Amino acid sequence: MLHSLRWLLAAPLVLALVGCEALGNLNLYSDEELEPLSAQAYTDAVKQHGEVTSGRDYEMVQRVARKIAAAADESFPWEAKLLKADDTPNAFCLPNGRIAIYTGILPVTQNEDGLAAVMGHEVAHAVLRHGGKRMTQGLLTNVASAAIDAGLGVAEMEEGTRGLVMGVIGAGAQYGVLLPYSRDHESEADELGLRFAVRAGYDPNEAPKLWERMAKLGAGGTPEWMSTHPDPLARAEALRQMIPQVVEQEKTWRPKANTQR
Ligand SMILES: [Zn+2]
Repeated sequence: MLHSLRWLLAAPLVLALVGCEALGNLNLYSDEELEPLSAQAYTDAVKQHGEVTSGRDYEMVQRVARKIAAAADESFPWEAKLLKADDTPNAFCLPNGRIAIYTGILPVTQNEDGLAAVMGHEVAHAVLRHGGKRMTQGLLTNVASAAIDAGLGVAEMEEGTRGLVMGVIGAGAQYGVLLPYSRDHESEADELGLRFAVRAGYDPNEAPKLWERMAKLGAGGTPEWMSTHPDPLARAEALRQMIPQVVEQEKTWRPKANTQR
């Protein structure tokens, strides 16, 4: 059913019927279908950079990940890794909750609240299924879609296809593909990420400060995370304005009774 719909979507008539706005939120890829891609991208990232497995920074990443995961209230197979890449300020969360923080982003996040802001934002992309939605929007070539439909592993895809698929699920940097999310997806992730940080007990005021630090860093070149996350000062301003309301609304937040956890 999903597969045939995906092929139908290639037809302009169907696109017109679905409407562009609705299409941005349509997701024809299940968590299960994205699972092998997510797992492979994670393995590749660790292979490329190596991981930090002890020490204060490692402990902090694990602690923030636990709290943000609880705030996201999704029964994902959550995992968080601190990757050894001092010169790369980057972070991502793959479909199904695989979080990667690069050591190079820690000087920018500066403290635990700042790290919660970055992680909250990245986890929000995963919770909002932005990877699957981007695939649905036709960002993939037919070759890439066919590879996924055929259940091909990432290793079996040819190089260009692999980079594109990984870029769409948010881990393209390691394959040389930097693919920013749409403005709408970014705004959604900014707001939901802020909610996650507030629910987890972190200081939401650190989120706009973080984006301002990012802006300064961007002025001296374009680091990885910045190139896929444009307009840092506009984000900082939007976040600052929404903080009082979000804090008020999240006071009543309680986790769903989830017996799976
Ligand atoms: Zn983002």
